[in-house]
Amino acid sequence: MRRTLFAAVLLSFSVLASACADNTAVTTVQRSYDSPAVQSTASAELRSAPKVINIKDTEKLTEDTVVEQGQTMYVREGGVLYIDTGVTLTLNGSLKVAEGGAVYIRGVLDMPEGSFFSCTGKTKIMSSGSILMGGTMWVNPAGLIKGSGSIHVLNAFDDIRCKGTVTAKIKAPEPVQIDGVTYIGGILLVNKEYSLPESYGDGLDSEAYTAYVRMKRASGYDMKIVSGFRSYTKQESTFAYWCSIDGEETASTYSARPGHSEHQTGLAMDITSLSQSYGKTAEGKWLAANCYKYGFIIRYPKGKTDITGYMYEPWHVRYLGASTAKLVHDSGLTLEEFLGVA
Ligand SMILES: [Zn+2]
Repeated sequence: MRRTLFAAVLLSFSVLASACADNTAVTTVQRSYDSPAVQSTASAELRSAPKVINIKDTEKLTEDTVVEQGQTMYVREGGVLYIDTGVTLTLNGSLKVAEGGAVYIRGVLDMPEGSFFSCTGKTKIMSSGSILMGGTMWVNPAGLIKGSGSIHVLNAFDDIRCKGTVTAKIKAPEPVQIDGVTYIGGILLVNKEYSLPESYGDGLDSEAYTAYVRMKRASGYDMKIVSGFRSYTKQESTFAYWCSIDGEETASTYSARPGHSEHQTGLAMDITSLSQSYGKTAEGKWLAANCYKYGFIIRYPKGKTDITGYMYEPWHVRYLGASTAKLVHDSGLTLEEFLGVA
């Protein structure tokens, strides 16, 4: 049974007050929700539930709790919120962790769509804990989310905007097919397993192109798009050509079958040179180190052929958007591993 958080905080006031009186730094708030007196207090106060629920000391949630829509639970400096094992904190409103505040998740922080979680302090997901991400999460500069539990992303990775550091393991949602196109957590995926319909795509994605222009300008190098959008029919003739030169088996390690080329998405570009030595040039090194800041990843890294299906291609970048590209970059994983399909 879920109860409103307001009832929980209201009940904790007297306990916290006495804790302050005897100077106890850490207080475990024991509550009984089953007494009729408590129930009536809760429902009476619910009508005038406060917009902000401040946590300035230690607060242990031992029962399922709800932060209502329009409500903000604010963990202030020195405040610590524990979500105990087996307990779910459902966030219909917002949860904010100020610098010097902390949240320890042993149970579940459930964030439905429309919810908002911002962290400038510290959030730790314990091994049994997890965050169900359907809403928006901000990790501000100096903010830290760390853990051995997991973050389950229910819709799109773009919901995680990270300026600080996230080191929790992210569990990807299941692949979803829309009109023959595969998305995982809102990310379009094309590889040897997942293909695009023949009719898909009509050019380079304008957002990806704008990002490329910004990246090129920032780099100071004359980065050229050697190959951008390639249609299904174009890929058909390209693949046939390479098969005639190298044979099908070899050709498929560097050239995609029609429908399986990431270039058909309009989100992939080959930059400057189709030579592996490009990775050793100053420009190639700059691209590898910085492209994520502009929303790109090096899609086929060195030594990952058995996962991506392609040899090392230091020139091939894939646009994901800056927040997702940072998550993938920081994870050190290939896109297949990041999306949980490796
Ligand atoms: Zn390419």
